[in-house]
Amino acid sequence: MKKVIGIDIGGTKINASLIDEEGNIIDKKEVPTQADKGRDTVLNNIKDVIYALDYKEAEAIGIGTPGFIDSENGIVTFAGNIKGWTGLNLKETVESFVDLPVFVENDANIALVAEKWIGAAKDYDNIVMITLGTGLGGAVYSDGQMLRGSNFQGAELGHLILYPGGRSCTCGQNGCAEAYCAGSALGREYEEITGKKLSGKEVFALVDTDDTAKEVLAHYESNLGHYLTSIRNIFDPQVIVVGGGVIASNDIFWDGMIQKFKEYCNKPETVDIIPAKFLNNAGVIGAAKVAFERINNEK
Ligand SMILES: [Zn+2]
Repeated sequence: MKKVIGIDIGGTKINASLIDEEGNIIDKKEVPTQADKGRDTVLNNIKDVIYALDYKEAEAIGIGTPGFIDSENGIVTFAGNIKGWTGLNLKETVESFVDLPVFVENDANIALVAEKWIGAAKDYDNIVMITLGTGLGGAVYSDGQMLRGSNFQGAELGHLILYPGGRSCTCGQNGCAEAYCAGSALGREYEEITGKKLSGKEVFALVDTDDTAKEVLAHYESNLGHYLTSIRNIFDPQVIVVGGGVIASNDIFWDGMIQKFKEYCNKPETVDIIPAKFLNNAGVIGAAKVAFERINNEK
């Protein structure tokens, strides 16, 4: 069976796996991203993680990276979180390390590709995926295609305005959904009220004993309910898949979020809202699937 390498460049770790055509992970390695050290360090880390795998077994490499991606040419057209990443031809650079074809895709898109291939969305054709993590990523798959937009910025669903004039966002706008619905928003709101810095996970851990945490949670569920209502109304998908690290705590916010969505949306019964199947492996599996599709198309 053919194999490829799927690589997922995350905020803190680069995950890489050797994956077969059925999506089975044969081997996996990880290295720190070191995004704060800039482009050359991150590229060296990518090289190391490829060499740590049995890359001679692979026929291609798929890479998921944050940012706006010209996936035809493998160029990062904009990325805020790794210094020097904007403008990089990631495809050609990685092809210079190793004699394999390399394909590059946006990290939220590869999460959707993984769920569509062998995950929660495999029986659906019109899919919106949102990923709740440090940021809020989005991807849209409709009638056999990903939505890309005219500047590779389509489906940037984290940057819908949820609160006009609201909190500042990493993208330069104010009031984006990301500033209210990402996991990091929980800590941000808790700090606004109490002055104490906590992570989203720490806020979740306090909801039974701390009134402020309870209030922050209720507000978070309500924000997600409004946000999902807008997503449903823009895309009319069959399914909205909710993924990202925050899903690991879905026993805490999921039911409240769905209840708020049903309260706010005029036709909540028209769409399924389901948690993603993959948490940590979505990126490598989706990146591998992108590589398989591209080598099969190019033959
Ligand atoms: Zn934004």
